[in-house]
Amino acid sequence: MTTFRDIADKVHAGERLSEADALLLMHHRDLPAIGQLADLVRQRRHPEGAVTYIVDRNINYTNVCVTLCKFCAFYRRPGDPEGYDHPLEVIYDKIRETRELGGVQILLQGGHHPDYGIERYEALFRGIKANAPIHIHGLSSSEILHCCHVSKLPLPEVLRRMRAAGLDSIPGGGGEILVDRVRKVISPLKTMSEPWLEVMREAHKQGLRTTATMMFGHVETFEERVEHMRAIRSLQDETAGFTAFISWTFQAPHTEMQDTPMTGGFDYLRTAAVSRLFIDNIDNFQASFVTQGLDMAGLSLQYGMNDLGSVMIEENVVSAANCECLAEITEMEKQIRAAGFEPARRNMFYDRVDEQGGLLERRLDANWDAKNPEGDDRPWDSEVSGSCSAARSDAAPQESPR
Ligand code: SF4
Repeated sequence: MTTFRDIADKVHAGERLSEADALLLMHHRDLPAIGQLADLVRQRRHPEGAVTYIVDRNINYTNVCVTLCKFCAFYRRPGDPEGYDHPLEVIYDKIRETRELGGVQILLQGGHHPDYGIERYEALFRGIKANAPIHIHGLSSSEILHCCHVSKLPLPEVLRRMRAAGLDSIPGGGGEILVDRVRKVISPLKTMSEPWLEVMREAHKQGLRTTATMMFGHVETFEERVEHMRAIRSLQDETAGFTAFISWTFQAPHTEMQDTPMTGGFDYLRTAAVSRLFIDNIDNFQASFVTQGLDMAGLSLQYGMNDLGSVMIEENVVSAANCECLAEITEMEKQIRAAGFEPARRNMFYDRVDEQGGLLERRLDANWDAKNPEGDDRPWDSEVSGSCSAARSDAAPQESPR
């Protein structure tokens, strides 16, 4: 029978963990011991001792949604007086403010609005790019599939047109738990697991990088958390397109599932550490200070995390669930230093940037580059950073190719 010691030996030897190993860890109660293993893997991947964060803005362009997820406190049905759909000028103003604050990216997400087809998104992306140099990290897999449905167009065409209009990368939102039993309970009208993965697969195929997420602590079992991690790891083996894995805990207040007990710090840290140990082909693991608070996020840096995510100028979805843990840059850097690391600002590719968003150091990704022989020229870099092309030639190699 496999023991914790066997798994520790595998980690020390750099061997891949099985699903049974991950499940054993999910039940293991020696949290510091799991944390030490996850920290070892983090050190191998990021020996420079830096912890990164990004300055960006979450723009929820509309809260009107027809998908009615039971875990969501953000959406309003069509016709609800509290529903909104931001005019383009409002979005442009938010982006201008973001650039003035040194922000390099917008996280653009919204509800499944019945009027949002491809032309609407093309106009949105083109308008944004014409107004300001900013990286658009936008639309979850389920929003993209909703757009396919509204426009009656196949996924490859929708993604091609979105990319041509200015979409730069795709967030992992809507992943929740990639097990259909769970999805049928918490979001029966939303895309199921395989279509979610297919959006990511097609995006990677077309050259778009994405992140992967996991929302846990609701109706799922430990086995289902591990199955979610396995699905992400398998797709990453295939495409190498994920830049980061981000897990957070379900926030119950004001949702249809508000009686669900909140997940505590022990479960959060253990799950975060197991994800770092099991998903051995993604470089970056992000702590969720929005749901856990900055102190717990700081602690998670000893449990395999190497990124504190976004200094968000606006976050509506989680704050609607009474979770208003927004931090200033100085507080975040203080937390990183207190945990024994050096803070570093980044963009979506984990390139290092300065306070104005200018590129300081390119981070290479050998596995992604190997699967994309035509290159990943990131044309948006030169828009966000005037010094990009000079900095590009001085780029340091990534310390731990996937
Ligand atoms: S999570 Fe997204 S898709 Fe689900 S109800 Fe909320 S806004 Fe709509």
